[in-house]
Amino acid sequence: MAHVPLDRTAAAMERAGIDALLVGPGADLQYLTGYHALPLERLTLLVARADGAHHLVVPRLEVARAEDAGLPDNLRLAVHDETDDPYALVAGLLDGAGDRLAIGDRLWGMFVLGLQQALPGASWRLASEVTAQLRMRKTAAEVDALRRAGRAIDRVHEACPEILRPGRSEAECAREIADRIVAEGHDDVRFVIVASGPNGASPHHESGDRILAEGDPVVVDIGGSVDGYCSDCTRNYLVGETGEPEGYREAHRVLEDAQRVATEAVRPGVAVGEIDRVARAHLADAGYGDYFIHRTGHGIGLEEHEEPYLVEGRESALEPGMAFSIEPGIYIPDRFGMRIEDIVVVTDDGAEVLNRLDRAPRRTQPAVAARAH
Ligand code: ZN
Ligand code: ZN
Ligand code: ZN
Repeated sequence: MAHVPLDRTAAAMERAGIDALLVGPGADLQYLTGYHALPLERLTLLVARADGAHHLVVPRLEVARAEDAGLPDNLRLAVHDETDDPYALVAGLLDGAGDRLAIGDRLWGMFVLGLQQALPGASWRLASEVTAQLRMRKTAAEVDALRRAGRAIDRVHEACPEILRPGRSEAECAREIADRIVAEGHDDVRFVIVASGPNGASPHHESGDRILAEGDPVVVDIGGSVDGYCSDCTRNYLVGETGEPEGYREAHRVLEDAQRVATEAVRPGVAVGEIDRVARAHLADAGYGDYFIHRTGHGIGLEEHEEPYLVEGRESALEPGMAFSIEPGIYIPDRFGMRIEDIVVVTDDGAEVLNRLDRAPRRTQPAVAARAH
């Protein structure tokens, strides 16, 4: 859905001084053509020229899938058979286009080297110089998909107090949450992080066999996609009816404030890095500066992580339609961790927050009673 017309892309290439864009399977290709291509060892490649002659290079056996995607009218297929040289095919399609080429950031090394050998006179840049600029500013249809994904992931968090019961393992809970992500309206599951007790101090902890105990804090960071657009939301839980680590509540209150003041700082014209600075300064002032070990957020859209990245020092300005996470965290090694994450979209005068759940830590249900015989 919502893929930009290729002629808008061609205009952006012209401005950037790029003669042709070579983009393989992935989010850029989906954005530009609507085609969700399989990442195969056979070459699939969009060859988009600034002069408007666009081709999609596809292996013969993928033609039916490509046609089913409803490709734009101004994009023609260039099919290669098993014994053809796909790089020579690409070189032919670029004949007369010019030598200033931009290549998809995620194209595999084997394809990059094959293309470079077939196009010895070319200069190379990254396609993201054009595509990231386009993808960063969401259309109304894209924002609507992000909004629906946000509502769906909120409903999954609503169910977490029933799932995160004492006596269950992280992995068991993660499997149930994954099922719930689909049941609540996502098309797929992108990731599930269930990090309990000291595991919460590792931001990308892989859910394992640790058993949830009464009083454990748990970080739950989850996401899926709706019509291709991602959700990503983190909340913190306390297992069972009582108990929590010393200092946990106080740290969480500081984190809630840091996340709120960072969100309040969002409006057009503010530097991207300023949002990170605001969150970081708030945590540092309260003495948690050394425990916030990652950037404050990342853009979101067809990919869970994309431009703009909210890193201190980034001077580029926020613009209406930009969508990103605001997710400060506190990670105290060997003790506990916590993160609060919402997705926000920049509006004409502030931010629309796509996740509506309360941000305080929530207690989970008690252990399921053993059934009497
Ligand atoms: Zn992450
Ligand atoms: Zn995130
Ligand atoms: Zn996340």
